[in-house]
Amino acid sequence: MTAPNIAVSIDVGGTLTKAAIVDGRGKIRAEDVQPTATDIAPTRVPAHVAGIVRELLRRAGVSPGEVSGLCIGVPGIVDYRTGDVLSCPNLTNWEGMPLGRLVEEEIGLPTYLDKDANLAAMGEYWQGASRGVRHSICFTLGTGIGTGIILDGRLYRGAIGGAGEIGHITLVREGPLCGCGNRGCLEALASASAIVREARTAVARDPSSKILTLAHGDPATITAEVVFSAAQEGDITARTVVMTALEYLGIGVASMVNALNPDMVVLAGGMAAAGEIIGDVVRHVVRQRVRLPLAAHVRVVIGSLGGYAGVLGGAYLVFQGLQEPVA
Ligand SMILES: [Zn+2]
Repeated sequence: MTAPNIAVSIDVGGTLTKAAIVDGRGKIRAEDVQPTATDIAPTRVPAHVAGIVRELLRRAGVSPGEVSGLCIGVPGIVDYRTGDVLSCPNLTNWEGMPLGRLVEEEIGLPTYLDKDANLAAMGEYWQGASRGVRHSICFTLGTGIGTGIILDGRLYRGAIGGAGEIGHITLVREGPLCGCGNRGCLEALASASAIVREARTAVARDPSSKILTLAHGDPATITAEVVFSAAQEGDITARTVVMTALEYLGIGVASMVNALNPDMVVLAGGMAAAGEIIGDVVRHVVRQRVRLPLAAHVRVVIGSLGGYAGVLGGAYLVFQGLQEPVA
């Protein structure tokens, strides 16, 4: 058997879709980012995905015969064995779609489907911050909060592929409503969307906040990035919003440290771009709230791959063949 050396990897986000041709050393040969096709009919999705793949292969000068497989990361729960999308709150018209099988039929390449947070964890494990680390949990922080759990160097998927939905553990009994339908989830308290929601409420009370200045006076244009910038410039209102969210995040991380005793926690995803302000608070809360020797052992770090963790993890999955291709 010849060693496979080229994979196509697509990371579908709620707003942007990133695609890449990746070689066996983790080098990106070609890449593409475009808005996620949220408005096209489900029946046209496989052809759309195939179009992205063909265009990338053409640009990279790679023929389909040189490609080991294709991996698609989806922001939801997928049955990785069948390639069915089970739940996808950001792309509801994909729910129930046998996406993996349809794309495989369309493109003729072995096709894998997995949860985006699992792929980010695999990417950081293969090429990033947790390279070679035996037990790690990678938090993907963005619109939502997901995690990928790697135990003994292997992704832990749970019974139906839904392990790692730590964003939906309840932290506040009657807390804010979460996208999943529950109240007080970690995701509803500490995600980028939660920060934006709290910032909008806060600027209504404090219109002089730098948050509003940076958002050009329009609360509708507030982003988590804006809130972090205002906090880093010393704005008290922004700092309160950010610190409250990060303390909840720290509590979520501390809970997982208690549950799984990892060697490392990686903080990845768009929000992790804010950097060590997040790492510092989470490390502090973990030290404060994990009262067992586990806290002294775990390293909490910011991911080192930025927006590339997902596509690299997808390629790694193809190369490792950690699961059978969609039947
Ligand atoms: Zn939830």
